[in-house]
Amino acid sequence: MDLDGDHSENISEATEQDQLVPSTITSEMATTEKHQGSSRGGKGKRLWKKVKYQLVEYHSLPAYLRDNEYILGYYRAEWPMKQILLSIFTIHNETLNVWTHLIGFFLFLALTIYTATKVPNGHSLQLSDVLKADLHKLHACLPSLPNMHDLHRLRDELKTTLPSMDFSGWHVMELLYNCLPERFSHGNQTDVCRLRSMTGDVANIIAPLMVRPITRWPFFAFMGGAMFCLLASSICHLLSCHSERISYIMLRVDYAGIAALIATSFYPPVYYSFMCMPFFCNLYLGFITLFGIATVMFSLLPVFQKPEWRTVRASLFSFMGLSGALPILHKLILFSHQPEALHTTGYEALMGLCYGLGAVVYATRVPERWMPGKFDIAGHSHQLFHVLVVAGAYAHYRAGLVYLKWRDLHGC
Ligand SMILES: [Zn+2]
Repeated sequence: MDLDGDHSENISEATEQDQLVPSTITSEMATTEKHQGSSRGGKGKRLWKKVKYQLVEYHSLPAYLRDNEYILGYYRAEWPMKQILLSIFTIHNETLNVWTHLIGFFLFLALTIYTATKVPNGHSLQLSDVLKADLHKLHACLPSLPNMHDLHRLRDELKTTLPSMDFSGWHVMELLYNCLPERFSHGNQTDVCRLRSMTGDVANIIAPLMVRPITRWPFFAFMGGAMFCLLASSICHLLSCHSERISYIMLRVDYAGIAALIATSFYPPVYYSFMCMPFFCNLYLGFITLFGIATVMFSLLPVFQKPEWRTVRASLFSFMGLSGALPILHKLILFSHQPEALHTTGYEALMGLCYGLGAVVYATRVPERWMPGKFDIAGHSHQLFHVLVVAGAYAHYRAGLVYLKWRDLHGC
């Protein structure tokens, strides 16, 4: 809101249609807020109400807003913040850039809520079924069962033998009671030594069945990274035209969002593939986290946002993404016999295809370079790039669900 100069003499009585027609007025002409303050009543106010902020052409833009010379018109330039916020509902060359990622943000918000509330976790998916199926083994595997009636004591012993296990909701003890009643129903002596030996046997049998719930944090870290990236990008496209300072800040937020999306995309495949190999798990997670932080730091350099650095930007983010091929290949070698490994790799290849294509489109500015001015409102490279990013992230979400199910069912 600090951008409004002495341009009140330039007010034109623009019509509704003028918003959609690239005019030759300069960006300065489009900023007239001071006039509002200086003529509160009468003719000035009526005139003010008629003023629509005009869209301008590429050659009228201040240097910091010139990014793509193949998009010729429909630019907003240095509007007051209120008009910029309202422009989310009007048509200009950033409208679809804002909405493609805003819709993507709400899609991922809905998927996060859905996954957190509807997709079963390790408890409900696995334990009761496994225990029901395997409890019969207890009969055969407990030759040393003593004749005893002190079931509460057995329960206490088991609880101390398996201190880290969460018994609530698993009904292990209830199943034991029901499954082995005849073993405990007669006899009147409790032999402490035999009790100890028996609880050890029970613990050995039950422990492998009681897979602890698989942690969800890598999955939700990715969902958070995707939502941050999509929302940051959407806000960036909406607000960047306000001023050089806002543009500078917003572009950095946008780059940080992209780096966050790429880095957190590694977390589910790396964590769930290598959760039983802490060395590789920590190595890959540490590498990509540091790479992401370094990319954000590098993107803070002023030179990073210059148009001629577009290819460098695309290359850096692409290389960051490509480094994900290493843990995925490693996973394929380790788990070539697991259908889940192939299934997730298929989704990851699809994600790579979407992101790769997106990076090429972003860097080459196809199709607008072939027909400058024809794709200003719809169909230009940045919009295609946005759609491909959402599609790639969605493929990755589907891969994440496969990882969760795999580890919930099989543990390590
Ligand atoms: Zn964008």
